[in-house]
Amino acid sequence: MLPAVTQLLVLQDRDKKLRQLKLELKRAPLERKDMETRTAGTAGALDAAKLKAKEIEVKRKELENEVGTRQQRIQKYNQQKLETKKNEEYQAISHAIQTIENEITALEDQELELMDALEQQKPVIAAAEKEAAATKTQVQRQFADLDAKVKSIEAQVETVQAERAKLAAEVEEDLLDTYQRLFDTKDAQAVVALVNEMCQGCHVKSQTHVIHAVKAGKVVTHCLYCGRILYPEN
Ligand SMILES: [Zn+2]
Repeated sequence: MLPAVTQLLVLQDRDKKLRQLKLELKRAPLERKDMETRTAGTAGALDAAKLKAKEIEVKRKELENEVGTRQQRIQKYNQQKLETKKNEEYQAISHAIQTIENEITALEDQELELMDALEQQKPVIAAAEKEAAATKTQVQRQFADLDAKVKSIEAQVETVQAERAKLAAEVEEDLLDTYQRLFDTKDAQAVVALVNEMCQGCHVKSQTHVIHAVKAGKVVTHCLYCGRILYPEN
């Protein structure tokens, strides 16, 4: 193989590696965002579960106050009952007291239902707490792993970039320009093999004089269809 083409193949290998590493670096912030979303999701579920319990408690307290108000009214009526001398009025007050007592019973039933609901909410909160804590721990670990991974990739990028610079310095300038243009526009496939007389870049069968030139390895030969630099299969 033409030494210049061999050099380009090594260069292409490093460029592909760089491209891959940079892609991984680009993904890191997205992975980080995913982790943050997961943490926020479980924390939000916990907040919602706690809020529901709080709302139930507020309602229960309201009912308790309503019962209190009615009990005070009953006390007042009882006082009036003691003071009245008219039988009719006495009966009316007794009836009013009975009505309020019925209301209190209904309110207390509702209060019991709410207390029941509050009791049922406790394991829900406990489960959400557990889930949120587990996710937080897990995400913290994943954050640390990701940071380490990013550092490692950045170090690899530096190493490969240094190798690449050394290799590129050895390639003739015009050829390097051509290679770079092909690498950028032909999906990182600037130098491709000629297999069974076929260019592995565009998969078109090459013409006889191109095949001969590639096999002879005296000059840099391009595919006539896609422009890629060709090298013999073996
Ligand atoms: Zn081609």
